[in-house]
Amino acid sequence: MELKQFAYVASHDLQSPLRSISGFVQLLKLEYEGKLDEQAQDWIGRTVRAIAQMQTLIRDLLSYSRVDARSRPFVQIPFIEIVNDARTLLESSIHDSGGQVTWGPLPDVMGDRSQLVQLIQNLIGNGLAYRSDKPPHIHITADRSGEEWVFSVRDNGIGIDPKHHEQIFEIFKRLHNQKEHPGTGIGLAVCRRVVNRHGGRIWVESELGHGSTFHFTIPEEKERPNEQ
Ligand code: ADP
Repeated sequence: MELKQFAYVASHDLQSPLRSISGFVQLLKLEYEGKLDEQAQDWIGRTVRAIAQMQTLIRDLLSYSRVDARSRPFVQIPFIEIVNDARTLLESSIHDSGGQVTWGPLPDVMGDRSQLVQLIQNLIGNGLAYRSDKPPHIHITADRSGEEWVFSVRDNGIGIDPKHHEQIFEIFKRLHNQKEHPGTGIGLAVCRRVVNRHGGRIWVESELGHGSTFHFTIPEEKERPNEQ
């Protein structure tokens, strides 16, 4: 079995026992809250938080292993629709962070709609999550460069030290612990797979304390390598 398939089956099959564990711990909490000593309540609380973290991890692993498994044929899509779908999915995070998302003129692209939404959702989501003390502002632009479009997703967040620019696209690679910023380290690995599947590249330009700009390319229609 290939590693990707293994990741899919493993993460999928882990969901069911985890649902049981989650259910029983919820019951324990509900029925015994106030009847147990402080130590026991603390342990239950920690278990509930660890379960939530594991559920997120499994969800993200599934989406990583599905990039190839769940791929759909490419269609022509106005990129603004991708941005709007991602904004709708992130509505509460945008609202809660007091952030704003803006964009310049965006072209039509050929691609897999739900995967492109996932890509932009992850990039905007990171721009909101890794914010500085200013309200987050994420700006999306697209520029023509020869036969491809170069998209840029710029934020005014904490920035990334250049020594980490390559590693952050690796699965499970994180620069922060769960306390500072919760996360799984899978988001940018999904972004890279989605961009590669569309025949493009992804990279980041950033300095600590000066925001980050994620760039990715999407070839023009005639250069679609994965299309029959
Ligand atoms: P996660 O956000 O779940 O940790 P990602 O793969 O999306 O996983 O990101 C990997 C790491 O890259 C993050 O833990 C964070 O340290 C860093 N990072 C990603 N996006 C940004 C950003 N916009 N600004 C600053 N750091 C970022």
